[in-house]
Amino acid sequence: MTIESSSPQSHFLFAEDACLPEGWRRNVLLQWNENGVLTGVTADACAPPYVARAGGPLMPGMPNLHSHAFQRAMAGLAEYRAQASDTFWSWRDLMYRLAARLTPETLAAVAHWLYVEMLKAGYTSVCEFHYVHRAPDGSAYASRAELAERVVDAAARAGIGMTMLPVLYEHSGFDRRAPGDEQRRFVNTPDELLELLSTLRQARPEHGALAYGVAPHSLRAVSEPSLRILIDGVTRSMPTAPVHIHVAEQTAEVDQCMAATGMRPVAWLLEHFDINARWCLVHATHVDGDEVAGLAASGAVAGLCPTTEANLGDGLFPAQAYLDTGGRIGIGSDSQIAVDWRAELRLLEYGQRLVWRARNVLASHTRPQVAERLVDAALAGGAQATGRAIGALRVGCRADWLVLDAQHPSIDMRARDMWLSGVVFCEQGASPIRDVYTGGRHVVQAGTHVDEAQAYAAYRHAMAELLR
Ligand code: ZN
Repeated sequence: MTIESSSPQSHFLFAEDACLPEGWRRNVLLQWNENGVLTGVTADACAPPYVARAGGPLMPGMPNLHSHAFQRAMAGLAEYRAQASDTFWSWRDLMYRLAARLTPETLAAVAHWLYVEMLKAGYTSVCEFHYVHRAPDGSAYASRAELAERVVDAAARAGIGMTMLPVLYEHSGFDRRAPGDEQRRFVNTPDELLELLSTLRQARPEHGALAYGVAPHSLRAVSEPSLRILIDGVTRSMPTAPVHIHVAEQTAEVDQCMAATGMRPVAWLLEHFDINARWCLVHATHVDGDEVAGLAASGAVAGLCPTTEANLGDGLFPAQAYLDTGGRIGIGSDSQIAVDWRAELRLLEYGQRLVWRARNVLASHTRPQVAERLVDAALAGGAQATGRAIGALRVGCRADWLVLDAQHPSIDMRARDMWLSGVVFCEQGASPIRDVYTGGRHVVQAGTHVDEAQAYAAYRHAMAELLR
């Protein structure tokens, strides 16, 4: 089933409460055009008789700034001790075995189901850090962008906005070791990757729900000259395209970077490249005080993935110091161990509480409600990282929003300024997210995605193949 565009008269919605950039407002009338872009946001409005009414309070949809779609297939399969000491690196071995088995068809089915899950959870856009490019034997597919096209198509079918970031992966360490067999599906030269991106943009041109950027995998997988070729190459044709990189996820990675360059990864990047608002530094987990200040001043986004970082035993990002210095953040589901932006924000705060043995650590004097501060930060930083006009109920932004369940026990009977606290911090029972709209289309209705049954049937079929 495909999702039909709204008919002209249905390009309005009236909400008794909506979370606008200035805060909660009453009686909000939304209007959007046939391209799915908001053209009117009016508070204190009267509800025209022909306009549909939202089933509860509205808030903007959350951007997911870091995803590896295929990893959904292994979520929960690495939660046992396989050797004396399980680490990120043993998890990575399992991930490589799964990546080796992917086909275009199984990848498409897993990605489609994942994006249905994201929408149900209230993620209305996703940055896909896509690094499986080649056939299992390391040869290029007839279309170099075959697998990326499948992921882009899966997003379109599900109705989630996408920023596709094809990944440049050259070698498997700072010593420029040749990639092993388990990495041969990922490998390209910068020129090959730029060609892949160009092929992809011709096959699937940008539109309101689709943007492109690039993702140098990490400093351990991409050399400085190649990083320069990639950035210069993409900037020539797409001057504002986002650039995402895994930067300092593991202490071993920081140690290797120190040994190879004499600098820590974030410090090295800040020193050698013009890190600005186009950049998203994913897993800036291990940063010292100077790096915190430098990253915050750069205008780049720190891409935080708290549930994955906890699951992989990465470490804790110094979020309090960074936010208090004006740093920008967004959140991602990364390994898909959780597909839930509420859980990411909750764990971001709880990690700090456990470290500092204090409460409401990430609140501030001007934003005493920690949930409001974190939601606003993740909306703004996440939107910036996508390179798309999203993240707010504002004219010119994409018509993406969530309808909360006003009768949910975590919202019902509470003052309006407590609603986001209930949404983020209460974990009782069913989700308080009732409906989801993307580009003005009503893709999740009363908790069910319009294509959910079919997507799940295809996912089960793919999992039977992958786990055989
Ligand atoms: Zn990642």
